Amino acid sequence: MQIRSSTRSRPVVLVTGGAGFIGAHICECLLVRDCDVICADNFYTGNIDNIAHLLGNPRFEVARHDVNFPLYVEVDAIFNLACPASPVHYQRDPVQTTKTSVQGAIHMLGLAKRTGAPILQASTSEVYGDPTVHPQTEDYGGNVDVTGFRACYDEGKRCAETLFFDYHRQHGIEIKVARIFNTYGPRMHPGDGRVVSNFIMQALQNQPITLYGNGDQSRSFCYVDDMVEGLLALMETPAAVTGPINIGNPVECTIRDLAQRIIALTGSASSIEYRPLPAQDPVRRCPDIGRAERELGWAPRTDLDDGLVRTIAYFRDQLATAATMRSV
Ligand code: NAD
Ligand code: UDP
Ligand code: UDP
Repeated sequence: MQIRSSTRSRPVVLVTGGAGFIGAHICECLLVRDCDVICADNFYTGNIDNIAHLLGNPRFEVARHDVNFPLYVEVDAIFNLACPASPVHYQRDPVQTTKTSVQGAIHMLGLAKRTGAPILQASTSEVYGDPTVHPQTEDYGGNVDVTGFRACYDEGKRCAETLFFDYHRQHGIEIKVARIFNTYGPRMHPGDGRVVSNFIMQALQNQPITLYGNGDQSRSFCYVDDMVEGLLALMETPAAVTGPINIGNPVECTIRDLAQRIIALTGSASSIEYRPLPAQDPVRRCPDIGRAERELGWAPRTDLDDGLVRTIAYFRDQLATAATMRSV
């Protein structure tokens, strides 16, 4: 099955958060698949540079829009990604983070209800909180600290999932809920504080690598091309496939190992500097992707070192461009 329009020659797809890291890759892939694309973004963490190369395309449209307000457009499918995603960004204005997840979901679900468009929610592995079950399966209920610093994001995303399933049951909306695990790659925000962008930027500038805690905590890192393939595959499933469905790379890596890999791959002279572990930092995170393999026929293909090499090349270019701009 493919994204289709019953009334237009080409489907029109809305991507909220389309100027962000993952959203920009989705916009690009949808254009390649011959969709018309509306990118709606308030540019809170997104960057026009992420979509600058698409702006001349007459099939691509950008709306500066905050999903906390209603949006009336005619569309055939919706990818709802609008939400700050890194801990530094989502904790900067936690009230706004929860509002964006919840109010944004209500508006996009209202839009889906009116237009009949299928809607995909960019949910997160953070719905599992600091998990006590490894790897995490979709039926694991999670271990979230309701009042902690991460709750604005975790609980916001959990409530959005609830809304998706209630709109599905109550109004028959076609929903696709993806639980995205740590994703990295070109177009990550260099200042978003996430571990891959931080370590690469530090390594390329021979600055100390800031390792929080003792580095034994683990994550599983999915390259962005694999992630986008998984999200598009989910959108193209029959209506009966609703998720929630984990999309991520099941290969677990400690943060210390990640630091050492990045130092080696960049040939950096950086040393490791130990810093305190942030509050409620999850100890381990690793997806069980059995459901994605069965229902989407999807599995990630990019090995961590290959993905890191491509991401390092991206950040190296960014630093070189910034240096050129400073010298003119
Ligand atoms: P990002 O911060 O690069 O992108 C988010 C985009 O949403 C930005 O362009 C931002 O400007 C926009 N946005 C934020 N608030 C908005 C609002 N109120 N109205 C309109 N636009 C708004 O983050 P990302 O890594 O690309 O994440 C995209 C989505 O995927 C998010 O919903 C995030 O929660 C989810 N996700 C990402 C990861 C990851 O590892 N990157 C993991 C789990 C879930
Ligand atoms: N909404 C929107 N775009 C649409 C349709 C609805 O933004 O094309 C908003 C609408 O303003 C409302 C929300 O989505 O705030 C939920 O819509 P729903 O129809 O579920 O609720 P109701 O309008 O009945 O409160
Ligand atoms: N981390 C780190 N140094 C940094 C940034 C992050 O050691 O400069 C750690 C962080 O404490 C966490 C892991 O790397 O254990 C992943 O952090 P990130 O913010 O990328 O994602 P999340 O915690 O949301 O999975």
